[in-house]
Amino acid sequence: EITLHIKREDLIHPFISGNKFRKLKYNLLQAKKENQHTLLTFGGAYSNHIYATATAAKIVGLNSIGIIRGELLDEKNPTLRSAKDAGMVLKGISRELYRDKTNSEYLDQLRQELGEFYLIPEGGTNALAIQGTTEILSNSQFNFSHLATPIGSGGTFAGLANSILPQQELLGISALKGEGIQEEMKQLLQTHGIHPKGSISIWTQYHHGGYAKWTSELIEFIHWFWESFGIPLDPIYTGKMAFACWDLLQKKYFKPGSRVLLIHTGGLQGNLGFTQRTGIKLPSP
Ligand SMILES: *Cc1c(COP(=O)(O)O)cnc(C)c1O
Repeated sequence: EITLHIKREDLIHPFISGNKFRKLKYNLLQAKKENQHTLLTFGGAYSNHIYATATAAKIVGLNSIGIIRGELLDEKNPTLRSAKDAGMVLKGISRELYRDKTNSEYLDQLRQELGEFYLIPEGGTNALAIQGTTEILSNSQFNFSHLATPIGSGGTFAGLANSILPQQELLGISALKGEGIQEEMKQLLQTHGIHPKGSISIWTQYHHGGYAKWTSELIEFIHWFWESFGIPLDPIYTGKMAFACWDLLQKKYFKPGSRVLLIHTGGLQGNLGFTQRTGIKLPSP
């Protein structure tokens, strides 16, 4: 017998859901400690991170600025509208300029223009974020043999890798196309001094066309999952992760007796924008 379980990090908060809450937690505490008044971060126009940062900043009484890749033209974009409603100041920049997002000269220029801020990198991954994602697994999760998470910038995978036990295997399902993530994750783990006690693997064949791309097979799977289990998934991250686990189950990757824990990292706010952009309806709770 093999059992699949889901850890519903999407239920942490309706707006600051899943791993974005984990990644923001210690950054918000640090910003407060430094007496900062404003958070600044980067993201795409449908980014869960932008939405979560805007909401979290409002709750803890900080201002927030979102630097958005590409144009802000689309008035109907529900992610940007919600971020704005939460008080976030939005600034759209060109895709070229966006590549400078970690460049210190560009950041100094932003400080001149917008005032002092506490910087949270794109995707939210930094040392304090990994401290937060290390808390996803609690002591009660020792009896799972496998854990599975989607991978974007890798901060969630890194935190889980930091907390798995010797008998556990962590599977990361890349939401992006390409093998580059293997080397990037190696670097990230090294930078943060993470030496996983258990085994880790990164799966790159479940991207369904690339980041924010999809196949009809993926969309059908998301609907089937909702109808079968009453759990909503998003097409960017959690849908691909659950699809991968289901596929690996069919392919007998998990040995009899395995207890597999899927980490539902949230991201359901993005479903509204996905439907607006593509016309494809998705289950929503
Ligand atoms: C941002 C996000 C991820 C990716 O997390 P990383 O720490 O950047 O790898 C996964 N799932 C959801 C729902 C997200 O919003």
